[in-house]
Amino acid sequence: LMEARSNTPTDADLTRWDRDHHLHPWASTDSWRKDDYMRINTADGIYLWDSTGKKFIDGPGGMWCVQIGYGRKDMADAIAKQVVEMPYASPWSSTSEPAAVLARRIAEMTPGDLNTVFFTTGGSTAVDTALRTVQFYNNRLGRPDKKLIIAREKGYHGSTYLASSVTGKERFNTKFDKSDLVRFLPDVNPYGRPEGVSLEDWCDQKVADLETLIAEEGAENIGCFIAEPILCSGGVIVPPPGYHQRTLEVCRANDILYISDEVVTGFGRLGHWFASQEVFGIEPDMITCAKGLTSGYLPLGACIVSDALMTAMEEPEGAEVFYNGFTYSGHPVSCAAALKNIEIMEDEDILGHVQRVAPHFQDRLRAIGERFDIVGDVRGMGLLGCIECRLDLPRKSLEADLKFGARLDAVCEEMGLMLRPFGNMAVFSPPLIISKEETDRMFDIMEAGLEKLSAEYDG
Ligand code: PLP
Repeated sequence: LMEARSNTPTDADLTRWDRDHHLHPWASTDSWRKDDYMRINTADGIYLWDSTGKKFIDGPGGMWCVQIGYGRKDMADAIAKQVVEMPYASPWSSTSEPAAVLARRIAEMTPGDLNTVFFTTGGSTAVDTALRTVQFYNNRLGRPDKKLIIAREKGYHGSTYLASSVTGKERFNTKFDKSDLVRFLPDVNPYGRPEGVSLEDWCDQKVADLETLIAEEGAENIGCFIAEPILCSGGVIVPPPGYHQRTLEVCRANDILYISDEVVTGFGRLGHWFASQEVFGIEPDMITCAKGLTSGYLPLGACIVSDALMTAMEEPEGAEVFYNGFTYSGHPVSCAAALKNIEIMEDEDILGHVQRVAPHFQDRLRAIGERFDIVGDVRGMGLLGCIECRLDLPRKSLEADLKFGARLDAVCEEMGLMLRPFGNMAVFSPPLIISKEETDRMFDIMEAGLEKLSAEYDG
């Protein structure tokens, strides 16, 4: 024990080891192995404490995932129980009670005939599974040319090869290669639309973009369309009303499968288990989810497939193996965590809570848009929000504006609120258990931060 104690790393050790040996997501070559990351030591409810003991409201909710908040002992107990009882079972040759119960539970939550669940290790692998399912389906039906994938500029779908290939964001400046099976539709953000174009016209144009692309490439060459109901990592972009239904209709008319990527919007973020049908009125062919499924306590994702698609894959003569799977597909401990997460969300009526708090959250967000000149757009839905800095005021430095997100995050962090910076935007998606008072505290800090930034500009 004495030896273990003397080996306890110091703060300086941890900083150095992380800097020298830990490559973080999206690290830049000019700062990797130089950057020091904030080290989070403890967490409870919506709060985080860093290694210096400073307390923060967790604005991003981990990474859009910590729905039930941190430090839930009942979650820890459920996880521990499963670890002791049976921590692992190969999904190739066996199943487990948590996996079977969770699959049925998810099938109940999803719309229409989406009744078959393929478990994955996270969101990217859920997206990969959905895209590979399209390939399996069309190859099996003897349509090997029906392969192209339609995705959208600013969409984010993950970091495996195919999932990153359908990710529109920053695709022009990456040194990673991408699959050549993907075609992108232009930005759907209503905020960027030309002056004088109504929301209805904008929706018409965005649907026309899809129709034009299909006409150009030929429906016989297009396998699927993948879309987040709200483009979250792209800056919480809410497409114009009617867009989802109309794009789904276009896909149906052209025999193109529709994949709804609900990795962020699933599990309560918009006040429903899934948003596709209940918020946007669509029944896709597949839904992908992850993140909020376990509230981030353990990794897990899922791709949920419609009965129609399952049946269509069965119909051709001759059996073929669905060669897709992960060692940790249906991991018993992750599934037990997801079941406990769902139980907590039900027992504490977290969906109802989101529906009650969200209008106030969105009101406070809109008030920011009206109050601050430097803010060009505010947008959001449910407990998702984004503040975008204007780039068109001549008195401002464009370079500073392009770093607006990081600057707003920095001033807010001083006052105890973390945000997620993204270029000239800051996004936030706090744990769903956030109270009305905590919501006010969060927006009070944001307003104080914006006052500081505004003062800099006016000087
Ligand atoms: N899809 C969407 C919509 C996401 O926002 C993300 C992650 O942010 C992913 C997929 C990828 O999920 P993961 O990071 O768990 O692989």
